[in-house]
Amino acid sequence: MKSIWNINLFRLFGIQLQLHLTFFILILFVVYQGGSKDGISGGIWGLLIIILVFVCVVLHELGHCLAAKRYGVHIHRILLLPIGGMAQFGSIPRQPQRELIIALAGPLVNFTIVGMLYFLSGSPERLLIDENYYNLSDTLSLLLVFNLIMGCFNLLPVFPMDGGRILRALLALKFTYLKATKLAIYIAKPLAIIGFIMGIFYLDNWIMAGVFAFIFLGGEIEYRMVRLRESFIGFKVCDVVSRYFLSLDSGCCVRDAINLMSQYPSQDILLIDEKGFRGIVRPDVVRKLAQKKKRSNELLYNHCIHNPTILQGDWILEEYSDIIYQASQNIFPVLDRDTLIGVIDRKNIQETIAWIRLRVG
Ligand SMILES: [Zn+2]
Repeated sequence: MKSIWNINLFRLFGIQLQLHLTFFILILFVVYQGGSKDGISGGIWGLLIIILVFVCVVLHELGHCLAAKRYGVHIHRILLLPIGGMAQFGSIPRQPQRELIIALAGPLVNFTIVGMLYFLSGSPERLLIDENYYNLSDTLSLLLVFNLIMGCFNLLPVFPMDGGRILRALLALKFTYLKATKLAIYIAKPLAIIGFIMGIFYLDNWIMAGVFAFIFLGGEIEYRMVRLRESFIGFKVCDVVSRYFLSLDSGCCVRDAINLMSQYPSQDILLIDEKGFRGIVRPDVVRKLAQKKKRSNELLYNHCIHNPTILQGDWILEEYSDIIYQASQNIFPVLDRDTLIGVIDRKNIQETIAWIRLRVG
């Protein structure tokens, strides 16, 4: 998903690396802290340390991504936030062994770095007595300690952190995937609350508190997604397709869409012509255009989503649940080969499934 908050950096092994704009707050904070303590050299050193730390964070996430790629998982991106990195996958494999390997791969990268840095710089004990870190050896030792902490921290059994995923995968060997996730969440929530409280009241570490708050919410969101996906099991795309949708000819103007929406507000419009399906017009786009009278004569086709995700009626619904909920469109045209047979509306899909289950006879 595109966001003005994320900056594209570059691609690594075909995976897009993105930086969240709030990351610059962390950079400013670190440079300011170093600078106020030791002037320009302190500021530059602070910047260098934070870059090296995040190189390790990227390597950790790459560990997950490369393991996932082996199983054919699509990787959307690696996003760098001030609180750490986040690799976003198309969908996490349901096979416990695969999830186990993907989750272990990240911390394993950290422990490999620890081993390499120990070989290069030796034991980091002198960091405790040496006040001045401005030399190569102490920088390597600092990175060694960071990687050791990061590797161990990520192994805490707090879902959806790596340790929590490992726990879920182990539970999924015995229970259903949904039950395993539920159990992992039961264990994770109190631990996340304890971590949050410790971060604020005992360690005075707001980043740690932020990480645990993020984990708490992330776990809940992922559990809901798993529950949702579970409800899709047994259905094909054509089972939940709706034959009722708004459509206009691709030659229509913005004015036509405004008139249609005055009767059916908040609904996406499909653009169709003799060639078939041409695009989707979102209601918020029409609303914005309606505020500028001059634009009412513009061709609607110029304001539509030209290449939306299209589903085939005979596809297994469960396999496309992540795509349906992560896409930037609300409705999905459904085809039977090349013929449009209806749409799936993200807002109604759960209700449709509930009604189908209640259907009698
Ligand atoms: Zn990880």
